Amino acid sequence: KGKSFIRRNLLTILTVIGVVGGTLTGIIIRKVTGGHWSKRETMYLAFPGEIFLRMLKCLIIPLLMSSVIQAIGSLDLSLSKKIAIRSIAYYSATTICAVILGILLVITIRPGVGGTPWSGEASEKVSRHVLTQDTLLDLIRNLFPPNIVQACVSQSQTFLIEPTNETVKKMGEEYWKFEEKYESTTNVLGLVVFAIIFGITLGKLGERAKILLDFFEALSEAMMIITSWVIWISPIGVFFLVAAKVLEIESFADLVGRLGLYFATVLLGLFLHGFGTLSILYFIAVRRLPFKVIAQLSQVLVTAFGTASSSATMPISIQTMDRMGLDPRVTRFVIPIGATINMDGTALYEAVAAIFIAQLNNIPLTFGKTIAVCVTATAASIGAAGIPQAGLVTMVMVLDTVGLPSEEVINIIAVDWLLDRFRTTINVMCDCLGARLVDILSVGELGVLTETDKLNAEPQ
Ligand code: ASP
Repeated sequence: KGKSFIRRNLLTILTVIGVVGGTLTGIIIRKVTGGHWSKRETMYLAFPGEIFLRMLKCLIIPLLMSSVIQAIGSLDLSLSKKIAIRSIAYYSATTICAVILGILLVITIRPGVGGTPWSGEASEKVSRHVLTQDTLLDLIRNLFPPNIVQACVSQSQTFLIEPTNETVKKMGEEYWKFEEKYESTTNVLGLVVFAIIFGITLGKLGERAKILLDFFEALSEAMMIITSWVIWISPIGVFFLVAAKVLEIESFADLVGRLGLYFATVLLGLFLHGFGTLSILYFIAVRRLPFKVIAQLSQVLVTAFGTASSSATMPISIQTMDRMGLDPRVTRFVIPIGATINMDGTALYEAVAAIFIAQLNNIPLTFGKTIAVCVTATAASIGAAGIPQAGLVTMVMVLDTVGLPSEEVINIIAVDWLLDRFRTTINVMCDCLGARLVDILSVGELGVLTETDKLNAEPQ
């Protein structure tokens, strides 16, 4: 029996070995070289991991477009609506619970009280002036890409640019310039919205659109096959990604020292949310516990940890959920949208981090401010792209609500690389559990699955 367990879970075991082995390798290289390695050497070490990430990212657009169009095209409009409403209810409920849990923990544990704020130089990464309303407007802008090809390579990010000219600076914000920038990240949300509308239209056209639906079905199947090959590279990929990351870290001391308690608070929050809150919500909705599902997701979770990106993990999430026998029409809806807007881990972290920094600076937190943190942390998690450390960038708007300048982000940067991996894991786990939950709730309404889906289905 032991043998069959290993065989069944070989890939996951190898990927876990990849993460652990990568961490150890990084630590050993640090010890042996005593800190003497160049950026170039780190780049070489990261290279195989970089290739793995490129493969995953390359799958996103064709897989996403074909599978969403095909799934929605074969779904009744009223059913699409039901799935959409259930998913959005799930996303909102889980994110709000995550933020509240984060706030409760940080005001109980008080990791920042008595600490001293960072006095070194701020990094350029955080010198933008982002307001909550700008992030929300960007989110809406990105739902409507002006150009599909452009949406594949970039998304809008608008912010006020602080003038360099001192006189203009003094004249106040109304003299600052609004600048719309295009960040080079795939606008996943815009593409999904387009694919959903296109899919609905094809469904409505019926027989006449069959040839197109068949085309997208074949394309989606082909992309799934390529995904299943790429998955086998993940142990090697995450090994090198993690090893190189360990080399890049400036100091480990912050993990246990200055930022130790903050780190532990976020980690505890993520753990309680992932295994506590989400399980309770899951139980309330479908009357069973999700632990078996979580175990089946281990490959996805390890990849999320290794890549620190919800978007890059998406092909693997979809593939795994298909293997678990979920209705692809549900998965294609819940996973891509969830990977972009449903980030519980990020929401929890944003709330904890902002209040932690406020505590460091002795800024009292009124009830009103706490509510404002709830709202902006939620918005910041929705606005964050599914790429590494995106949450750190949208953090500035949560800081703004507690009355702190963006430079204060510097306080938490030292440990963010690792927290990012943990929060991404929870982000992805929440999406996958959501897909499972919506799938269970929609059973019976969706009608019979195709033969292949049935073959893949595993008993509950
Ligand atoms: N890296 C996270 C993700 O892809 C986003 C974040 O920075 O919180 O889900």
